[in-house]
Amino acid sequence: MDTTIPKHDHLADPTGATLPFGSAAYRSFFRNHLAGKLNGNLYVLANLSLLVAIIAALALSIPKYEPYFLVLLPGYFMFVNGIEYVLHRYPMHHKTPGFMVVYEHVTTHHNFYANQDFYFEEPRDYYAAVLPYYIFIGLTVVIGSVSGVIYLGFGLANALFFALVAYSYYLTYELLHFTYHMPADSLMKKLPFINGLSRAHILHHQTKLMAHYNFNITFPIYDWLLGTSYKGPMPDSLPQAK
Ligand SMILES: [Zn+2]
Ligand SMILES: [Zn+2]
Repeated sequence: MDTTIPKHDHLADPTGATLPFGSAAYRSFFRNHLAGKLNGNLYVLANLSLLVAIIAALALSIPKYEPYFLVLLPGYFMFVNGIEYVLHRYPMHHKTPGFMVVYEHVTTHHNFYANQDFYFEEPRDYYAAVLPYYIFIGLTVVIGSVSGVIYLGFGLANALFFALVAYSYYLTYELLHFTYHMPADSLMKKLPFINGLSRAHILHHQTKLMAHYNFNITFPIYDWLLGTSYKGPMPDSLPQAK
């Protein structure tokens, strides 16, 4: 039995908020009380399958791919990259009335993956990395609303193309972010592009840095534009650059 993990009264504190932030006790609490019942591998597979199905349905429903979509694509991409940055920099890291549900990013995700404990140890840990169903629903409402505005102004094909780009970005986010939280010696992290992005995100998971640097989780364009890329040294407790 692991005697380093103190007993915690789940009924008195159902969120684990009184446990030390980033502690082994919180990790244990999350696994036993907050992770879903479905096997973690199936949970990830179900999430990714749903996103792939939505993307395929959207791709097939666009009546005609117009040449000007090539111009729209970077515009839509920059828009969703900016949404990622703004949501992550502000309501996900600062308690904001009306957006408290996304502050779980700190109380759950950063709490579970803190400092040198940035990696998965078992499938239940995937529940602390993949966005939960209610965030999926919220993002679907946002994507649907923006698509609705585009539909009213510019027609169905443009609106469907926006939704296609947004859900493709969402899937890319889930795949990249999942990779960042793999153990440091994972094969995926040997790929140079992935390795660089992963290091930036692991730095963001340093509790002292999290509210200040590296808010883009996929492609760090707005961090670069707005000067929030972390330029300091890698902490000694983390895997160093090779
Ligand atoms: Zn993360
Ligand atoms: Zn964060």
